[in-house]
Amino acid sequence: MKLTNQKAKELKKDFPLLQKKERGKELVYIDNAATTQKPKAVIDAVCRYYLAENANIHRGLYKISEIATLHWEKAHASVASFIHADPEEIIFTRNATEGINLVSYCLPALFRMRKEIVVTALEHHANLVPWQECAKRHGLILKVIAMKPDFTLDYKDAQKKITEQTALVAMNHISNALGTKNDVQYLISLAKKNGAFTLVDAAQSAPHTPINVRKMGCDFLAFSSHKMLGPTGLGVLYGRKELLAQMPPFMTGGDMIRTVSYQDATWNDLPMKFEAGTPHIAGAIGFAEAIKYLQEVGMETIEAWEGELLSYALKEFQKIKGVTVYSTGPEKSAGILSFNIKGVHAHDVASILGAEGICIRGGHHCAMPLMGALGIAGTCRASFYLYTTYEDVDRLVAAVKKVKSIFGIEKR
Ligand code: PMP
Repeated sequence: MKLTNQKAKELKKDFPLLQKKERGKELVYIDNAATTQKPKAVIDAVCRYYLAENANIHRGLYKISEIATLHWEKAHASVASFIHADPEEIIFTRNATEGINLVSYCLPALFRMRKEIVVTALEHHANLVPWQECAKRHGLILKVIAMKPDFTLDYKDAQKKITEQTALVAMNHISNALGTKNDVQYLISLAKKNGAFTLVDAAQSAPHTPINVRKMGCDFLAFSSHKMLGPTGLGVLYGRKELLAQMPPFMTGGDMIRTVSYQDATWNDLPMKFEAGTPHIAGAIGFAEAIKYLQEVGMETIEAWEGELLSYALKEFQKIKGVTVYSTGPEKSAGILSFNIKGVHAHDVASILGAEGICIRGGHHCAMPLMGALGIAGTCRASFYLYTTYEDVDRLVAAVKKVKSIFGIEKR
C-alpha cells in the first residue's frame, strides 16, 4: 500500500480525538514525537479487557485469568514479530526510559574491566542521564560522539571514541529533537569490532520505520507503546537472550521468581525474570492492537509518507523568511521539523499555534545538551505521523506566518 493524502485523511477517521474541532476548525495534531493519538480499535481493545476479561495473569485457574494470560503472552509474540525477535527477548516495561534504566543497572555486571560508555550528541535525556548515573556508580568515563554542522553524527569521531575500552555504545536511532536518522548499523559494527555492547533507543524509530533487531545486530533496543498508537504506561525492552540470561534482575518480587525461601530466591524464565509485579495488562492488549494497525498500514508505507510530508514542509518553510530550520533534509531525516522564528521564543510560537488548534512542541525536547551545542534554548517541533495530511502542514505554515505578523516581523 502507498499512503496518499486521501488515504491519510481516511486513516484520520479511525482516531476519535482527531475528529475534535477547535474553534470550528479541525484539530491539527503534529506533536507525535511526544505521544500519538489512539485509533478506536486500540481504545476498544482496552475497554473490552476491562469490561469482559479483567483478571490478573499467571495465577488464576479460571477462564478470565487464562484469557488475560493468553493476551499478555500474545502481546509479547506480536512485539517480537514486529521487531524480528523471540518472545522471551521482549520485556514489557513502563516506557522506553525504564527499559534503558534497566540496562544501566543490570548490564554493568558484564562490563568486566572496560571503563568507558559512549553515547551520541543527539541523545534524549532518557538515553543520557541513566548513563551519567551508571558512570558515576561504576567509576566509568562517559564519551560523546560529536554532531556535525549538518545535524548528522560525526562518524569519524565515532571511530575515535569507540575503542577496546568501550563497555557499551548507547545511541538513538532517530533524534526526537531534530529528526536525524542515525547510522546505527555502522555504530553497532564499530562497537562489535571493539567487543562493546550496544543499546539502541528506538523511541522515535520503532513507530516510524521497520525494525529488524537480527539484521541490526544490537544487544538491546528500547521503545514506548504510547508513541506508536498504543496506551501510555507500557514500554518494550528487547534484549539478546544470552545477555538477559546472564544479567541480574532489575526489580525483585512477585512473578519474577521461580522459588523463594525466607533467606533467598531463584529467578523465573525470560522474560518474567525482568517483569516483577502485576504489569500493565490492559496496556499490552491495547499495544498488540496498535501493532496490528501499524502492520496493516505497513511500516515502509508509513516511513515513505512521512518522508513526503517532510519534503513538502521543508519546501514550504524555505519560502518563509526569518525562519531557521534545523534539519538534515528528507534523505537522512524522519518526519520531524524543528525550527525557530527569529526573535520569537519557541514557547510563544507553540502557544499561539495552540490557540489556533495546532499542537506542536516548543522547548528543549529533553535534549538540553544538544540545544546547548546548537547555541539555542530550544526549538519549535512539528512531528508527523501516518494520519498527517498536506492540509495539516499548510495550516502549520499559515500559522507560522501569522506569528510573524503578530510580532511585526513580516519583512525581516
Ligand atoms: N528517547 C527518545 C528519542 C524519545 O523521544 C523519548 C520520548 N520523548 C524517550 C526516549 C523516552 O520515552 P518515554 O518517555 O516514553 O520513556
